[in-house]
Amino acid sequence: MIWNQQVETLSRTEMTAWQAYKLTKIIERVYEKSFLYQIRMKECGLLPENITNLDDLKKLPVTTKQDIAANYPYGLLTMPVSGVAYIHKTLEAQDHFAVSYTRNDLAMWSELMSRILVAGGVNMTSVFQWVGTAKENAPSLGVHFGIQQIGSTLLSDSRSSMLAQIHLIEDFGITSIFSAASHLLQLAQEAGMNGYKPAELPLQNIFCDSNLVSQSQGEKIQQIYGKKPIQVYGMYDIWGMGIAGECHCDAGLHVQEDCFYPEILHPVSGQVLPIGEIGELVLTSLTLEAMPLLRFTTGMLCSLDDSPCACGRTLIRIRKETEKNDLYPCGQRW
Ligand SMILES: [Zn+2]
Repeated sequence: MIWNQQVETLSRTEMTAWQAYKLTKIIERVYEKSFLYQIRMKECGLLPENITNLDDLKKLPVTTKQDIAANYPYGLLTMPVSGVAYIHKTLEAQDHFAVSYTRNDLAMWSELMSRILVAGGVNMTSVFQWVGTAKENAPSLGVHFGIQQIGSTLLSDSRSSMLAQIHLIEDFGITSIFSAASHLLQLAQEAGMNGYKPAELPLQNIFCDSNLVSQSQGEKIQQIYGKKPIQVYGMYDIWGMGIAGECHCDAGLHVQEDCFYPEILHPVSGQVLPIGEIGELVLTSLTLEAMPLLRFTTGMLCSLDDSPCACGRTLIRIRKETEKNDLYPCGQRW
């Protein structure tokens, strides 16, 4: 099932035109209201009318995590604080990060997570549980919104012990779970020690944060639980879960590209690479109101795949690269 048939199956021509329109609007917004981007554009000698299509994006410099930290807490807002509905605050190393959302941003988050969860097999009859650490709880908000929008049943949890977690799955008939791969593997171990067979638990859909699952962990989960984990991509410090997610075709993660425009940049030269080539994922938010970001460097090595997907979605896919980190050191900036 596809949650938003109209958007998720747009033709490439339609999607490109829509993205370009949204880009012009977001450029006008940040030029008028974001101190950082106004300065950046002026430094590059750019006015909003100089960026009218997606190809023009490359005229702009990238935005880094350091930019976010340097503008903490409200420097990237494009509106008064009174317009913000939710702030997600984290601390990474010595840097503070805070991402703000308007009510419209939260509604968009719900929509994107609905699409991703449905692509992974969630439906109205699902009983869903998020099992995360304290750090992961804030970005789980969007996941919870998505579950509510779909109409599934959401089970809250206060991070039970492993054995209690297994009982929860059995007692409440939890069909869908979102957790770290390492937690799912520990859970399987505990299940085995207590006479349970993980593959016989009611779980039908297993979701994992793509940042926290290695290829070998994914294969182990599939082997033990009998289901391939569905990877969902987001960034705890910048955006929550919901930027991209897998379908059941094992063909990469569909990017919600009506809201996030992906580019792949050569990690050393910074040049935009063509479809299929491996580089660093750079994202431009096309819809976010409170804190739009242009060409944000994610540090994730991947390639883009626009070939047809058997699920019917036309959204471009990212294919993670886990073996080339030594070749292209993430974090090196151009
Ligand atoms: Zn697909």
